[in-house]
Amino acid sequence: MPSDIHAFDRLKKYPQAARYWPALRDFVARARPHELHRINPLYLAERLRWGRNETLDVLTYAVAENLWHLHWEAYCPACGGLLQEDEHLGALHHHQVCRACGWEGEIALDRELAVEASVSERVRRLPLSTREDPDFRRKVQSRLGRLPALALVNRPLFRELLGAQTLPSDQSLGVESMVVFFSDLKGSTALYERLGDAQAYRLVREHFTVIFDAVEAEGGAAVKTIGDGVMGTFFEPQAALRGITAALRGLDEVNRREDLRGEDRLRLKVGVHMGACIVVTLNHRLDYFGTTVNVAARLSDLSRGAEVVVSEALLQDAAARRLARSLGEIQPMETTLRGLSRPITAYRLRV
Ligand SMILES: [Zn+2]
Repeated sequence: MPSDIHAFDRLKKYPQAARYWPALRDFVARARPHELHRINPLYLAERLRWGRNETLDVLTYAVAENLWHLHWEAYCPACGGLLQEDEHLGALHHHQVCRACGWEGEIALDRELAVEASVSERVRRLPLSTREDPDFRRKVQSRLGRLPALALVNRPLFRELLGAQTLPSDQSLGVESMVVFFSDLKGSTALYERLGDAQAYRLVREHFTVIFDAVEAEGGAAVKTIGDGVMGTFFEPQAALRGITAALRGLDEVNRREDLRGEDRLRLKVGVHMGACIVVTLNHRLDYFGTTVNVAARLSDLSRGAEVVVSEALLQDAAARRLARSLGEIQPMETTLRGLSRPITAYRLRV
């Protein structure tokens, strides 16, 4: 099969990619071979002057259409050497031993695992002799670092289009540290009853948009909706605090604009926790599980509305603690969560 740059036309069917794919196509046509083989997506972002998230999403469309493919790579945390590499994430062994330095341990999506991408042969054939340039690779890595596999896996679009083929349903992968939140719309059942289904549903949709936008603006991801609630993730505590409090303020805006008073006001119950979790494929999508996820869900139950219940783990970071104080009023509480053996300390944050 001859290579064909016009295969990019297939991206026309994704309206969200419309602004981007012609530039990617032109880059693929012009670039030097070593810029298209096992390339750090952050390099593409730099060359195309796109943000990280938009680059990852355009790449996701391109991979879904077989215009690009991915390389999942495990690197030794001790010596930096390559432990294993495969086009299928599920083919990587959880437990690794470094042949160079003897390090032995479990690999995690946000730690040892990185992701790179290559243009597909059907789009442009890259001569074996010129596609590898170790000097170029070294320079890119020293300037941009590696892209943690979690950065791609955590994108909602990636999980939707490529999640199931990325991780077979009987496998899981660990994440060392992630911020997980759950939100729930307080009194939504009563809201439907008082305002009628159509009006209540319009407000519920508007509330979803407010949350999605606030989370996305801080680099987080809304993973899924559960009834009138949202489960989402952030990479670090400060982004989570900013994103979630922005969502709360956004709902206040909606309340003002729609003149919602008293019981009709939209009030968000949010719980947020941070820690290790696992990624698995469930219902053909990548999803997050584990104690961290369960605790975040329980904390959201404790929120009284228009309030975030933040776990102590999140505020152990001094900068996050300062930020939380600057965002609103904090009140500590001791609580025993259903299903957990020990009481934990959490904080109520009202903005
Ligand atoms: Zn090593």
